[in-house]
Amino acid sequence: MTFDTPRPVSQDVLNFIGGSFREGGERKTFPNIDPATGKQIGVVHEASEADVADAVAAAKAALSGPWGRMTTADRVKLISAVAAEIERRAADFLDAEVADTGKPRHVASHIDIPRGAANFRMFADVVSTVSGEVFDTPTPDGGRALNYTVRKPKGVVAVVCPWNFPLLLMTWKVGPALACGNTVVVKPSEETPRTAALLGEVMNAVGMPEGVYNVVHGFGPGSAGEFLTAHPDVDAITFTGETGTGQAIMQKAAIGVRDISFELGGKNAAIVFADADLDKAVEGLSRSVFLNTGQVCLGTERVYVERPIFDEFVARMAKAAQSFKPGAVGDPAYLGPLISAEHRDKVLGYYRRAVDEGATVVTGGGVPEIDGPGAGGFFIEPTLWTGLAPTASVLREEIFGPCCGVVPFDSEDEVIALANDTPYGLCASVWTENLSRGHRVAAAMDVGVCWVNSWFLRDLRTAFGGSGQSGIGREGGVHSLEFYTELTNICVKL
Ligand code: NAD
Repeated sequence: MTFDTPRPVSQDVLNFIGGSFREGGERKTFPNIDPATGKQIGVVHEASEADVADAVAAAKAALSGPWGRMTTADRVKLISAVAAEIERRAADFLDAEVADTGKPRHVASHIDIPRGAANFRMFADVVSTVSGEVFDTPTPDGGRALNYTVRKPKGVVAVVCPWNFPLLLMTWKVGPALACGNTVVVKPSEETPRTAALLGEVMNAVGMPEGVYNVVHGFGPGSAGEFLTAHPDVDAITFTGETGTGQAIMQKAAIGVRDISFELGGKNAAIVFADADLDKAVEGLSRSVFLNTGQVCLGTERVYVERPIFDEFVARMAKAAQSFKPGAVGDPAYLGPLISAEHRDKVLGYYRRAVDEGATVVTGGGVPEIDGPGAGGFFIEPTLWTGLAPTASVLREEIFGPCCGVVPFDSEDEVIALANDTPYGLCASVWTENLSRGHRVAAAMDVGVCWVNSWFLRDLRTAFGGSGQSGIGREGGVHSLEFYTELTNICVKL
């Protein structure tokens, strides 16, 4: 299959409720913009409060229909069929994702779309193989009891998603939720609604019972996001997005004491020791700063470099930054746009603030001049700063753009303290050829994931999530079962 040729995507993006595509009950729409051109490519039909209630009702009803009665083996077959159908329609998913995000096709075809399928396949495997616990318990009368646990689905799960890896991050939650027998109502980001809608077609094609997978479009407060998370028949809420949004959703989750799983923002640090393999460190860190135009929750926005190699590292990273070509669609060095004009304004605000805070702008710092179709796109220059104090806001707040501050350090203790001096705790990376130091410093990082001599090397079976303000809970492999199932302990006196 070739992924090289973009094809036009359909104009209208519809809600998917109870197995059918439909407009919003109040006939409201909002524009769907291609961030690589700034042009409108279609409209999204916004779900009303009544539509969201219909979606939740459809999801609830499906729990007591054929889906609720299905054996794990049959459910696994259906979920594996979803993975296969995503792969069969990979070109459609790719077109939809690229139209919504403007990201390079090679990024979406290597990361976003294959992971969309893998997320279903992996969790189908997990639920096929996982076993429960059994204890032989002595009883006070000298007898015995058999204690074991059974896992049941939580029920209706609300899945609220961001725009940076729309299909990947949505299926990371829908995959395990369905594998565990739940039903879902998805609220994709208003910026990137297309792949969630397309997944509705996949569900119908494989014969997924109606109501198991539902999609409602809209915004956060006063719209589909809030209607969904506040709905009393939602049993659990899984959310990926900004920490502030997580706080708002947490308040809604308190109604009825619903369970939450949160993957939130970060201000991730990288530590480069003088003994690091500099070629590998620069290659890895230039990906971690600039991939997806810096719109990666795991991306690096602070790099601490041991003083003897500081100047060389900065020079090499600057060269790497300059090798990206914002706006050059189709060029292998193409750097995609930021997701929206609003997000570009936010990132540019930080670019200005860095200068006010005393940064030396090593490279970038502004908006590139672009001719041709990308002229109206929301492009921005990859940017590096040095000379910032640790207290500078650009070194403390999540920017979510292709930029980072590079800071020198002199000792291991100093750099551990600097890296951990943040309310966030999503991930970090450590670059050193000293094995003991790699283990030691990685273990000292207050984060959910720490890479040594690599970045974004993911094994979907591992625990994924953030500490501090970067999240609540861990998903991945068997860890996802903790959130997507409820355990019942059965004690049988023998
Ligand atoms: P966002 O929080 O603005 O929006 C995420 C989703 O929440 C959207 O669907 C939005 O419509 C919805 N929403 C907004 N307000 C809401 C409310 N009050 N109630 C219910 N829903 C609401 O995040 P974003 O800008 O789409 O994504 C970028 C953020 O996501 C960054 O902070 C990034 O770090 C984070 N992120 C984290 C991870 C992770 O795994 N930790 C992964 C990707 C992105």
